[in-house]
Amino acid sequence: MAFERRQFEEVTRAEAEAIGVPGQRRFRMIFADQYETAVLWLEKQQLQALGLAFEQIIGQLRSAGVAEARAAAPRPGPVGPVPPDAWEIQVGRLMVGFDEDRNLVSLFIHDIEADEDDPPSFVCRMNLAQIGTMAIQIGEVVAAGRPLCPRCHQPIDPGGHVCPHDNGHFPHLIRPID
Ligand SMILES: [Zn+2]
Repeated sequence: MAFERRQFEEVTRAEAEAIGVPGQRRFRMIFADQYETAVLWLEKQQLQALGLAFEQIIGQLRSAGVAEARAAAPRPGPVGPVPPDAWEIQVGRLMVGFDEDRNLVSLFIHDIEADEDDPPSFVCRMNLAQIGTMAIQIGEVVAAGRPLCPRCHQPIDPGGHVCPHDNGHFPHLIRPID
């Protein structure tokens, strides 16, 4: 079976949101270029992993002194309507790449029904401000009421939190003040 593919070289919209009531929420990402909108449905865990990957990229580039990574990403705005003719897929495999020359992050997404050796169904490239804003938004979407880590914007579970800003080595636990 041949799969339709899309490639957005200049992303004008990169958002994440949850649809539905708590407990039955479905998660999706919305990307657009100047011509078309793509809706990528995915599991909450996939979305959370992507947000963490974005945070890790920014954290590493900050450490390396890359100026664009040090600039604060704009706060995400409310997610606007999705055009009815948007292209949609269900996300299977998802990979993140980084183009050092252009400071662009690439997303490579395979349709869940694609074969192992099929090319990615969806490819897009985002700048560091876009992934920074999207990481904040993903953190908020995934958290759904749980407190967010002020450093990485990921939700803090009752048992504690492994922050990518600590390279994942030092979970900072929430402790009562004594
Ligand atoms: Zn954190």
